[in-house]
Amino acid sequence: MYWCAYAFQPQCGCDGSNSDLSLVALRGNRRGRDVSYHDEQKVHALAPKPRARSLDVLRTGRCQVNLPGRLHAMDLTLTAKVQLYPTLEQEAWLRQTVEAYRQGCHDVSGIVYATHNLQQAVLHKETYRLLRAQFGLRSQMAQSVIKTVIARYKSVLANGHPWTRVRFTQPALDLVWNRDYFLKGERFSLNTLAGRVRIPFARKGMERFFDGTWQFGTAQVVHRHGRWFLHVPMTQDVSAIDLADIPQVVGLDFGINFLITAYDSQGRTTFFPGRAVKARRAHFTQLRQTLQRRQTPSARRRLKRIGQRENRWMTDVNHQVSKALVVRYGVKTLFVLEDLKGIRGATERVRRRDRYTSVSWAFYQLRQMIEYKAALQQARTVAVDPHYTSQTCPQCGHVARGNRDKRRHRFACQQCHYRSNDDRIGAMNLHRQGIEYRVTGAIAARP
Ligand SMILES: [Zn+2]
Repeated sequence: MYWCAYAFQPQCGCDGSNSDLSLVALRGNRRGRDVSYHDEQKVHALAPKPRARSLDVLRTGRCQVNLPGRLHAMDLTLTAKVQLYPTLEQEAWLRQTVEAYRQGCHDVSGIVYATHNLQQAVLHKETYRLLRAQFGLRSQMAQSVIKTVIARYKSVLANGHPWTRVRFTQPALDLVWNRDYFLKGERFSLNTLAGRVRIPFARKGMERFFDGTWQFGTAQVVHRHGRWFLHVPMTQDVSAIDLADIPQVVGLDFGINFLITAYDSQGRTTFFPGRAVKARRAHFTQLRQTLQRRQTPSARRRLKRIGQRENRWMTDVNHQVSKALVVRYGVKTLFVLEDLKGIRGATERVRRRDRYTSVSWAFYQLRQMIEYKAALQQARTVAVDPHYTSQTCPQCGHVARGNRDKRRHRFACQQCHYRSNDDRIGAMNLHRQGIEYRVTGAIAARP
């Protein structure tokens, strides 16, 4: 458990009548104990430290058939990053195979670029022998090379980019499940140029994917920073529960001073503190700016490393926040989030010097994590129109820009004089839209 709750004295300008306010403190708890903090100062010192993760979810994808009010089927795909522990000998084979595969992709890419032809049969005819003879790739791997190159070009073109030569600089190797790789006991069995190798891997966190309900897709062997990883896409059919069976609706407002403000059906507000995160990101920004001014190769290398460290740390924070949220509300919850446009637009709602701290990828990632962790818990998520969520009075429905005082984080309705913290108002309005969605099965265009 990564969270704990305690009573929170509002210091944010709300009327103080919100005795239901609670603050959730988050931390990577290394000793596995739950810790309560009764001092906001301490909470701010709780910026989670980066931890080594053997398993990390890289990407999520969904294929959703949304039939409001009815049970809907949904395929959830997670890509797990699993660390491999090859012996020295196995590592040499991996190295050789990955490099041959990369060079093969590079050469085929050259041919595709010259001919602009993406037909598999044509490419196969032109390149298959070359791949087999020059790089020593086995038949199946040669076919994978061709498929990999075609897929990369297709995605480039699908994104609206013009024809450019796709470069294969990073060593990577694609392996088809049950053909090029499979699980055998405690090891992954992988196809290499030297035959099959059985390599131990970091099992921690992976166990739940081995229960037979997950389907494994085409994996990628990746070599980064001296370590070997297998990126494994795993798909599960998660059937979401009927809207009518959902008792708990939680509105989630994303922000800077509070990463998330949650408002639930019992009228409780939960704040996930964001100031420590904001401070740490500001620190990273400053470090980067200093290094950017120096134009030396070593400064560039450090810049890259710092960027990677920041991303790992931010990902870890997002994992903890999303996990805490889903653990707190559990099954049969409908989480209501702002539509993506709102999250991109979040940069417009904050002061200039805070902008970096609100860059969209971190929110985007957090949102995706909430979505897939909720789906795994038989909870649902819905995205609603973000307009006016911060300007609408949750008591009387009066919409006015003047209801909100951004600078002082205050909301005071000009019509009924209802007052509260402004982040809380956003969460309350999202909650209300979720209630409407549960009843009507549709999302109102305006609150
Ligand atoms: Zn009002």
